Formats: sequence, C-alpha cells, structure tokens
Amino acid sequence: MRIVVVGGGTAGWMTAATLGCIVAGHLADVTLIESEEIGTVGVGEATVPHIRFFNKRLGIDEADFIRRTHATFKLGIEFRDWGRIGDSYIHPFGDFGHDIDGLPFHQHWLHAARSGGDVPPLEDCSLPIVAARANRFALPSDDPRAIGSTFSYAYQFDASLYAAYLRRYAEARRVERLEGRVVRVEAEAEHIAAVHLSDGRRIDGDLFIDCSGFRGLLIEGGLAAGYEDWSHWLPCDAAWAMPSTNVGPLTPYTRATAREAGWQWRIPLQHRTGNGHVFSTRFTDIERARALLLANVEGEALAEPRLLRFHTGLRRRQWIGNCVAIGLSAGFLEPLESTSIHLIQLAIGKLLELFPTDGIVDPADVTEFNRAMALEYERVRDFLVLHYCATTRDDTAFWRHIRTMQLPPSLVDKMGEFRDRGIVAHYREGMFLPASWLAVYHGQGIVPERVHPLVADAPAATARARVAAVAAACRHAAAAMPSHEDYLAHLAAA
Ligand code: FAD
Repeated sequence: MRIVVVGGGTAGWMTAATLGCIVAGHLADVTLIESEEIGTVGVGEATVPHIRFFNKRLGIDEADFIRRTHATFKLGIEFRDWGRIGDSYIHPFGDFGHDIDGLPFHQHWLHAARSGGDVPPLEDCSLPIVAARANRFALPSDDPRAIGSTFSYAYQFDASLYAAYLRRYAEARRVERLEGRVVRVEAEAEHIAAVHLSDGRRIDGDLFIDCSGFRGLLIEGGLAAGYEDWSHWLPCDAAWAMPSTNVGPLTPYTRATAREAGWQWRIPLQHRTGNGHVFSTRFTDIERARALLLANVEGEALAEPRLLRFHTGLRRRQWIGNCVAIGLSAGFLEPLESTSIHLIQLAIGKLLELFPTDGIVDPADVTEFNRAMALEYERVRDFLVLHYCATTRDDTAFWRHIRTMQLPPSLVDKMGEFRDRGIVAHYREGMFLPASWLAVYHGQGIVPERVHPLVADAPAATARARVAAVAAACRHAAAAMPSHEDYLAHLAAA
C-alpha cells in the first residue's frame, strides 16, 4: 500500500510521524510532498493537554522536545475583558475542587457563596489556576488522592520547530520526503490516482492525505468536497500575527484579550512571545486591526505583522474515496481555545482506528470518520461561541452583534441547563470536559438561578468549610511548586 501525504506543515508532519511510527516500511510506503516555496501557515503555537499523549505515543522524550521546540508549559488560558471590560478569568486544564457526595464541587461552592460570609472565589479552588496566577509549575502527581493530581498541562511551542522535529522523526522511520509543488490532481469518480508536480513527476498512491492547508488542494481542488460556512456564528475572519521579545516572567498560560472587533493572543515561548490579533473584517478595517496589535504588544517587535485570512467552518466531507483531509484543509475554527492541533490529532487517531485493510477503503468507515469529525468540530464551535455570546459588552458594533445573534440550538440547550440549576451537561463525544464549560460559564458571569436541591438541603456552614479547605489545599500545593522559569531551567540542565 502506498500512502501519499500532501503538505509538510504541522498536520502533514504529525500525520507522517504517526504513519512512520506505526505503518511505514511494513504495512505501507509513506511519502510526504511539500513545497518550501509555498511554505506553511507559520502559526499554531498553543496546544491543549492531549498533545502530550500524541508525543508519548511516538515515544518522544519530553525534555528533548521542550528544548528543541523552545516550548513552555501551559496550565490554561487567561481571558481578559470577555464578560465585561476589566474581567479576567482562567480556563484551567483541571478541576475545580472535587465531587462531594457524588455532586459537583461548584454546586457546594454556589451554596456556600449564596449563604453569605467570607467564601473564597471559585478560581481559588482550582490548583492550575492558583499555580498559573503565581507563575508556578510542576508536573501533576500520580497519586489520585493528592490535590496535585487534579490538573493536566499542555505546551506552548514554536510551530516551525515542532514540524522540523517531527520531520526528523518521520524521516528516521522510513517516511520519504519529496520537495515539489503539486500542480494537478488526477481524480475520477471520487478516487485520486496520482498528483502531478510542477517538474513533471507523477506520484501515484492508494491513500492520499490532504494536509495542504487552507487550499484543500486534494479534498476541494480535486474532489470538490464543499464547505460549510460558520462565519455567522464566529465572524472573525482574519488575523495579524507578530513575534516579540519576552517581557516579564514566563507565564505558564496563554492569554486571550478581547478587543473591539475580535481578540488578541499572547503565547510566551522560551525565546520569544507569539502575538496575534484575530478580528472580523465586517466590523473593523485591516489597518486599524494592525495598529491595535502594534499598540498592545509588550516587548520589541521581532518581525513585521503578517496578515492571515480564513473562513470559519468545515469541509462537508473530510474523507472522500481514498482521500482524507487533515488540518486546515479539513476546516478551521479560530484559535481562541488552541484546538486546531488537537483536531489534527483526533483525525489521525480516527484514521488509524479505521485504517483500510489491504488498501481498500470501506465506505462505512468513511461515513463514520465524517460523522465523528463533524461532531468534534461542532462541539468546539459551540464552546467558542459561548465565549462570545456570554458577555455583557455592548461597547462596539461587533459585541452588539455577538450578543444578539442567533445561537446554535445545541448551545442554547446546554446554556439553559447551566442557567437553570448549574448543571454542566456532559457530552459523550467532544473534547471539552465539564470543568472547561464551568470555567467559561462562571468566568463570563452566567449565574445559575438555583443550587442543586440535594446540595441546598445540607447546612451552608458545611459547604463553606469544604470550600475553605479546598482553597487552602490549592494555595499550599501551588506555593510548593517551583516557578515556571526555574522548572524550565531545571529541565534544560537535566
Ligand atoms: P499549513 O501549515 O498551511 O501547511 C500546508 C502545507 O502544504 C505546507 O507544507 C505547504 O507547503 C504545502 N502545500 C500547499 N500547497 C502545496 C502544493 N501545491 N504543493 C506542495 N505542497 C503544498 N492551532 C492551534 O492548535 N493552536 C494555535 O494557537 C493556533 N493558532 C492559530 C492562529 C491563526 C491565525 C491561524 C490561521 C491558525 C492557528 N492555528 C492554531 C491552526 C494551526 O496553525 C494549524 O492547524 C496547523 O499549523 C496545521 O496547519 P496545516 O499543516 O494544516 O497547514
């Protein structure tokens, strides 16, 4: 069996490295085609914790990876000015307290907070938030009884160094790399026979993975998959990106600050800070958006801002015939929750699960892949929309539009359950767990009307004591962690 991966960005090299690790050489020959002349999108530096399991599956050593990609650790994302100007909350990679008598901790917190008296904020009951606010980091504990086991972490890394890292890995595992520009896709009846390069070479294959980025060279250019546009729910369609020098301590979290027609990211790496301003061209002009980024970057600019345009949505089919789209070729959701690389990882996992036997694709597997991936995109979309719609901001036309737009029905139902009794409905599929939804609901000021009846029935003094104990445990555990910078230095020395 011959597998051809078109594209050598993060998606292409994550796919090729996985195939190199698992199938190259014995089950399939794997070739990756990329064009240095075209280059990659060059952004995508913040991740979610699942990336650790991707690296682990490949057998990548964490310390080596951190050194070579100039990575930092990430305990969550700080959102500034989202619910209202002046607000700040962190969406942590971890829990708020722990379930008590089978009921979520936040219900007990709510009961305590409503009873009056001095109750610590909910944020103080989440170890990753307390550690992040203090710029501290340590690995989670393996002991499930310890408060140190209640969080996870991700990385912030240099995307081009990560792709280069995976390239070395894949090439060492018999993945063949071809430099060249694809100029034609030879396809008939939803089957790709070969791609043609500008120098006349014809590369044939049994399975094609389209990692060509926004172009969707194979899935759209060759197979006309069609695109479902979600810009009516997520109107941002452009970003200015620019690196700058580091200023201040290295924060173990990404920051997303709401702006007049979008938001700005700040991603601290060991050697520089990644910055970007994501905005909607319907509500601001491109030059104003650029000026706003330049005015709000800490540190010295290390390059001119670079403009990226995008369409929020997804391909109507991400797998057609013998072609699977992975990465930006499959769809795009703005990077507010750093989800794109995770969606790549999910698609690779699903492809492996449904890997064709003897090179023959089963149509039922294609249907399942398309169902599962579309659902993942929808779940992420709803979570992103929540950040926008749960706001009291009305200071610009952008925010007024967001507050009054019609929401996806799936989100309306979910928000309704929280507003009513603080219930965070748990999806069977979908990457964000209840603690993530809770962080955003609470952080953006959605207050449940009632406390869960079984919690409300217990004495408020007990709830207050439990909350105080959890907050104290988080405070002590965070104080015992080294600073994020010390932890990185220790890793580098090791
Ligand atoms: P690309 O990087 O565009 O790679 C495409 C590849 O295809 C390149 O190698 C190119 O040379 C090749 N190619 C294209 N055409 C041809 C051709 N004709 N012949 C041969 N080769 C060809 N994701 C996150 O998870 N976290 C983030 O913080 C984040 N931030 C983002 C910010 C912005 C503004 C944007 C736009 C995206 C962000 N993303 C983020 C998404 C992330 O950048 C991508 O998911 C990731 O980089 C994967 O991109 P890709 O490999 O699909 O595409």
